[in-house]
Order: sequence, then structure tokens, then C-alpha cells
Amino acid sequence: MSSFFNTPIEFLKGVGPQKAALLNKELNIFTYADLLQHYPYRYEDRTKFYSIKELNEHMPNVQVKGQIIGRELVGQGRKQRLVIHLSDGTGSVELVWFQGIKWISPKLKSGVTYVVFGQPNRFGSKYTMAHPEIEVLTPALQSNHFLQPVYSTTETLRKKFLDSKAIFNLQKTLLKEAYNRIPETLPQSILQQYAFLTKKDAVAQVHVPRDAQVLQKARFRMKFEEFFFMQLRLLMQKKIRLEKFRGQVLAKTDLLTEFYRLHLPFELTEAQKKVTREIFVDFKSGKQMNRLLQGDVGSGKTIVAFIASLIAIDSGAQVALMAPTQILAGQHYEGLKEFADKIGVSIALLTGSSKTKARRKIHENLLSGELQILVGTHALLEDVVQFKNLGLAIVDEQHRYGVAQRARLWKKNETFIPHVLIMTATPIPRTLSMSVYGDLDISTIDELPKGRKEIKTLHQYDANRLKLNGFIKTEVAKGRQVYIVYPLIEESEKLDLKDLMDGYESVQRAFPEFPISIVHGKMKADAKDFEMARFVKGETKIMVATTVIEVGVNVPNASVMIIENAERFGLAQLHQLRGRVGRGAEQSYCVLVTSYKLSKEAKVRVDTMVRTTDGFEIAQVDMQLRGPGDMMGTQQSGQMDLILGDLREDEPILSISRQAAQKIIQEDPELGHEGNQPIKLQIENQKKKSVNWSRIS
Ligand code: ADP
Ligand code: MG
Repeated sequence: MSSFFNTPIEFLKGVGPQKAALLNKELNIFTYADLLQHYPYRYEDRTKFYSIKELNEHMPNVQVKGQIIGRELVGQGRKQRLVIHLSDGTGSVELVWFQGIKWISPKLKSGVTYVVFGQPNRFGSKYTMAHPEIEVLTPALQSNHFLQPVYSTTETLRKKFLDSKAIFNLQKTLLKEAYNRIPETLPQSILQQYAFLTKKDAVAQVHVPRDAQVLQKARFRMKFEEFFFMQLRLLMQKKIRLEKFRGQVLAKTDLLTEFYRLHLPFELTEAQKKVTREIFVDFKSGKQMNRLLQGDVGSGKTIVAFIASLIAIDSGAQVALMAPTQILAGQHYEGLKEFADKIGVSIALLTGSSKTKARRKIHENLLSGELQILVGTHALLEDVVQFKNLGLAIVDEQHRYGVAQRARLWKKNETFIPHVLIMTATPIPRTLSMSVYGDLDISTIDELPKGRKEIKTLHQYDANRLKLNGFIKTEVAKGRQVYIVYPLIEESEKLDLKDLMDGYESVQRAFPEFPISIVHGKMKADAKDFEMARFVKGETKIMVATTVIEVGVNVPNASVMIIENAERFGLAQLHQLRGRVGRGAEQSYCVLVTSYKLSKEAKVRVDTMVRTTDGFEIAQVDMQLRGPGDMMGTQQSGQMDLILGDLREDEPILSISRQAAQKIIQEDPELGHEGNQPIKLQIENQKKKSVNWSRIS
């Protein structure tokens, strides 16, 4: 069976060796299976004629019919364009040609009814179509209703007569033979539950849709299947991990109760309560926890980390918290120590710059169990750092660590792998967390503490520099501190550094009365720390910096964030940068400074930032702009081997496929049931990987 799908494409009728070589090279199509999986990326809707008054700018290519009621030549020379006014009685649309005017113009006659196919664009109250397809209406066209699939192809292929229509014809030829050989990959139970098309019908309908409804059903099923097998794989990994790794039972809550009763400085938000409950359930379960704690900047992850720590400590376990930089580790230490001191829990900080004597003391107290919480940088990972009983490892800003580094933390307890809580302040859309972190459990703090003043975000053009400087002066005069951030990217490092230095000088000139700090990635670590420390202590009023300040620094008195060349930053970065302010009681501001010239995408980014401070909403827009693969970096994109499925728009399908996968794993973890054999076969096929056919499902 699979040998049929592995047939080299050259043997398909109408292909032959030359075209086969081209298909190999240009589209990576080597076999029948490859061709079948070369799905249309869109469809042209020829199913009906729209009336002109129905047109709107969100439509794909559509067809209208009408007569020419006017024509003009606008502009001169190479900028000349032909504008045809077409009316169908309900309204008129302008058809525009910029090229081939001499050729097309004489063919277009008045008094004839034309079929026009193109994409409507709106200009003011008018609709236009640029370079539409146009044909005289014939009885055949009138009665021809279909969805025309459009396949991606290349210039080279088009020149060799392998355009979209030719590929469509190849698909039809292939489907005639392939249709009856396409095996079902989902169990009957799932087909019935969701009223899915069979696999072979879904494949056939995706290529040669009967109508829009069936096409939608076909695409839905195909997408479901991609997500389903992805989820099945992730959930199975998780299941194996849970079975293999026992976890220390941490179930006592006396300390926590005491803390709640006497020392809790504020009421927890509902979201904080929810995630602490989720962690507690894991702690009691006897299974090792692997949990991602997501929460926007300022959502209050520290107290959650502390509460988890108290539960661990109550059962005699120790806690390690690892942060990516000394500054961050220092701040976590301060934050936790405030709570720890109140309830008499011992805590220490270990970083690369800890003195030998202090270090030795820490090592001793860890081994004896006297030290209960250790906060630090990757210095924690060194072999000399040994715990009596490490029960909980908290990792902040995990994207900075590799899996290997985390694994070194695990080894610090030989009886039980410590429970792991990964904290991240970079929200990611649900669909991404379900796929990239699908084997972790996820807790989300989706609510900020009450009474926070929303950061005001403004967009300002370069040219308004004086106004901006005036604003900075007023804020500093009120006693606040200000960040001014410049982009620095490696490709244009020299220029960027010059920008930064120029900026620094002009800031010095503009504010001779204020002490100013500067920090950038090219400085020595000592010098950086020194400058940071001056700003943290309030000795300097303005911090001119590159994005080195991006991660987690907390200076509550800093209430203004100016981002220069904001058009050059990505959304995630802008959001992180903005998160540096808004931490104190004062009204905070973020000003995005750009030039007048903004690309369409940059405009969306800036507008999004001005519109909302919700990290999840921003992450969603970011994913729409950049695509999920780019957003997560190349490493993880392998886990998103999707052809039709799109994490940007298919959240509902992903959700139900996850439920379906969960159900299967619950009811039949070994996939032994007769009905589930298609799934088992499919997974085996996917494992083989050598066969491209496996991707078809
Ligand atoms: P992040 O999630 O960015 O690490 P933090 O834990 O640093 O946030 O919390 C930000 C600030 O909000 C801290 O000053 C903290 O004390 C305060 N905070 C946290 N939770 C609450 C709450 N439920 N009510 C009021 N303030 C809170
Ligand atoms: Mg934090």
C-alpha cells in the first residue's frame, strides 16, 4: 500500500523525468504522497456572482458581472493607468490596469456583459479591483459554479507550464488512482463523534472541492488530524514522565496557614489563588511536577513562588530559585527575603561574586538542611552545591536556560527529582503553549492585582523631541526616574552603538542638571553592575540603555520608559521594556518614539502597544504578525510540523483535538483496542519518518 504512495512522481501521467526533476527541485515533491500533500493554499470563489453593492474589502477574489459604463486613462507615461467603470445596476466598481494597457484596452467593449474576477479594495466610498481577470459572459460561464484551488508554484515552474492549474490537473489524475488506497487514520469512534469525512474523502475534497461547505468539513478534518497526532505525542511523553518520575509528597500546610493568618501583605488575586491550588495538587500527588507558571510582568509571581516554597519547606524539603542574571537573582532574593524573614524561614543568595567564606557557609548549611531557600544564578548548578533534600526548583525566565542546565538541577536530589516550577513573564498564546509546552502543565496568572494604575502609552514622532524633553524634565522634577532605550542589534551593531552614544550625548546636553547612567551590552560586567546600582539607588535620574535592561529589573521609582526607534523593536520586546515601569504607586508612562516613515507592520505594533497592556493580547498579535515558528525560535518549530493547521487561527480545532487525544490516552493508553489500530499504525508510520507518506495525516 505505502509503496504506491512512494512511487516517484515522474511516473505520474503527464509528468515524466523533466518535469519530475523540476518538481523535486522547486517544490520538494518527490513522490505521489508529496504531491497529494501539496495542498492548495487558497481557493478562488467562482461559486456565485456577487452584486457590486455586496463587495467589501475583506473578501478574497470574487466574481461580479456587469457592463462598462465609462473608461479613463489617468496619469502620464509609465505611471499611466487604465480605469474601467463597471456597473451591474446595484453599483459600480473601478477596474484598474497599470500594465498591458495597450493590449487590454481595445478588447473591452461597451454593451457587452463581462465576468470580472478579482479582489475588491476600498478607496474611500469606492471599490476597485487591480488587474482582474475579465472575460465575456457566456452561457457556460454563467452556469459554471466551482471553487478553484490555487497551488503555490514558482516562476521557473510556470515557465515550464507547471502553473497552479497544471498542478490541479496532476492532482486530479493522481486522485483517480490514489483515492481508494488512502487508508483511514482515525478510529471510527472519532469519525462518528465529530461527524468527520473519511480520510480519503477529506483528501479528495481538499483538492477538488464539491462546494464550500464540504471543503470546510474536509479542511477541518485534516487539520484536526494534524493537531490530534501532535497532541497525542505530547501527552504520551508527559504520561511517560509522570509514570517514571515519582515526586516527593509535600502536603503539610501549617506554615502556610500561619503565613496567611499573620503575614500576608495583601489579598491574593483570584488568579494567584487558582495557580497556588494547582501547584498544591501536584505536590500532594506523589508525581513529579513540571509546571510552567505564566504571568505578565507585575502579575505577582513572586508571592506564588514563595507560597510554593513554604509548602515544600513545611515537609522538610529545600528550595532553589535560579535566575539568569546577578541583578535578577539579587532582586528575587530581596523579594523573597521580605516574606521569609517574617515567618522565620532561612534564605541565602549565591552568585558568581559571593565571597569564599560566605559560599562555604552556604554549602554547609545546605547540606545540614539549615538553609531552606537558596536563590542564585547558574552558580547554583556547580557540583559543590549539594542539598540535604532539594524538593522544589524554581527557574525564572526559562527561555534563557537550556534543557541541559535544568537537568543539572534535577540531579541535586538522588531520591526524588525535585518538583520544577518554571516562571516566565513572556506570555505566549494558548495555541502555542499547548503545542510547544504541551508536555508541561501550565498555570496562568491572567489578572493583575487590584488598584494598579494602567501604564499610559503614547506614540511620539522624532520631530517632537522638544516636547518630549519637556515631559522628561517635568517627571524628573517630580522625583521620578526615566529609562531611555535604544535598539542594538548585531547586524548593525556599530551604527547602533553610535546611535546610542549620540543619543547619550544629546541627553546629557538636554539635561545638564541631571546625573545620567548609561548601560549597554559592550560594557564590562562590573561597569554595568555599577551603573545599574547607581540607578537602582536613585543616584542617577536617567538611564540610557540598550535592551540589556529588558529582563526583570525592578526599580519602582522609574516611571517613564522612552523607547527610541520603537519601530525597530518586536512586540514582545516592547512589552517587556514597558514592563520595567508601572511598578510603583505613581502614574507611569511609556513613550514610543518613531520616525514618520513606518512600515505597515511597525504601525500595527505601535498601535497595539498604545491600545493595550494585556500581554496575552499582545502575544496574539505578535503571533499573527510573525507566525508561530518565528515567535518561538527555530529550535521548537520542529514540534509544529503542521501543513494545514495554523496555530494563528485554529485554536478551536486544537482544543477539541487535545480533548480527543486525552480521551484516547485515558481509555486506551496502550492503544490495544481494535478500534484504535488506525492510530497505532499512524504513529508507527510517523516514527519511521523515512516515508514521507507519514506526513499526509
Ligand atoms: P512579577 O510577576 O512581575 O514577578 P511581582 O511578584 O514582582 O510580579 O509582583 C509585582 C508587585 O505586585 C510586587 O510589588 C508585589 O508585592 C505586588 N503584588 C503581588 N501580588 C499582589 C496582590 N495580590 N495584591 C497587591 N499587590 C500584589
Ligand atoms: Mg518577577
